[in-house]
Amino acid sequence: MAYQHLFGPVPSRRLGVSLGVDLVPYKVCSQNCIYCEVGKTTNLTIKRREYVNIHSVIEELEHFLSGNPELDFITFSGAGEPTLNSGLGKLIKYLKKYFPQFKIALITNSNLLTEAKLQDEIQDIDVLLPSLDAASDEVFQILNRPCRELNIKQIIDGIITTRKKLKGKMWLEIFLSPGINDTPEELEKLQEACQRINPHLIQLNTLDRPGVIPELQALPVDRMEQIRNYFLPLPVEVISKAVIRKQQKSYNLDIASSIIETIKRRPSTDKDLCQILGLHINELNKYLSSLLAENLISKRDGTRGTYFEVNQ
Ligand code: SF4
Repeated sequence: MAYQHLFGPVPSRRLGVSLGVDLVPYKVCSQNCIYCEVGKTTNLTIKRREYVNIHSVIEELEHFLSGNPELDFITFSGAGEPTLNSGLGKLIKYLKKYFPQFKIALITNSNLLTEAKLQDEIQDIDVLLPSLDAASDEVFQILNRPCRELNIKQIIDGIITTRKKLKGKMWLEIFLSPGINDTPEELEKLQEACQRINPHLIQLNTLDRPGVIPELQALPVDRMEQIRNYFLPLPVEVISKAVIRKQQKSYNLDIASSIIETIKRRPSTDKDLCQILGLHINELNKYLSSLLAENLISKRDGTRGTYFEVNQ
C-alpha cells in the first residue's frame, strides 16, 4: 500500500521511533513562523475542517499497524498544523479503541487550544507537545506571524486549561531565536507563563536547519544553558544540540545514503530531495540535520533557496 498520510517511522529526537501522520496538506497552518523548516504557509487559517479525509487516514493506519510495527509513538505532526483537521478527535478515539498498545503524541503550535471542543478531543493523548515561543503579542507577531484573530494571552490560557484536562503528559517547547525572544523581559514573561501552565517538561530548542529567513541564527549552546536557568526550578531541558541520529533505532541508512548519492550528483534543495526520493519534508529534515551534524554535508544559499551538497 502506498501511504499518502503516513511517513517514517522517523528517528525523532524527542519521541524515539515515531510514525508521522500528516493531517493537513502543504502548507495549511495558523502561523507562518520565521523559522519554519517546512516552508512558507500558503493557507494561513484558523478554520478547522477535514483538510485530509479521516477515513483514508484510518485505512492507512489500520494497514500499517496490523503489521505490529515497533514504535515508540504515533505522532500527529506534518506539513502544517494538525489540530486544524476537524477529524482529529475521531482519529484519536479510533486509535485508543483499536490499537491501545501504541502511544499517541501530538505536536501543535497551541493556537487552537483555546477551543473547549479541541481540549476535550485531545485529552487522551499520551504526550502533548505544544509550542509557546512568545508571551507578548509583539514577539508573537515577529516570530510566529499568526492569523490576525489570534491573541497570545488567550493562547496561554488555552494551554493552561488543556493541561488541566489532559490525562497524559505535556512537554512544552520554546523555540529560542537570538534578539527576538531571548531578551530578559520576554524570558521573564515566558517563565511566568510556564509557571501558570505547569507542564511536565519544558524543552528549549533553537534553529537546527535553515528556516524561511536565511539570516536567522541559532542560539549558541552556552546561551541556551544560561536561559535554562530562567526556568528553574521547573523541569526544563535543552534539546537544541544537533544529534547524530545514526544510533537511533529507526535511522534508515539507506535513506541517508540515497540523500548523499543524490546531492553528490547535483546539489539540491529540500523540495528537490523530497520529490526525487519520495520523502515527507519532516522525514527528510531529520536526516538532513543529522548529516549536517556529522559534517558529511553542508548547505549554501542559492537561487531557489538553500542547497545541500556533499563535503569533499
Ligand atoms: S506552526 Fe509549525 S508548521 Fe506552522 S509555520 Fe510554525 S513551525 Fe511551521
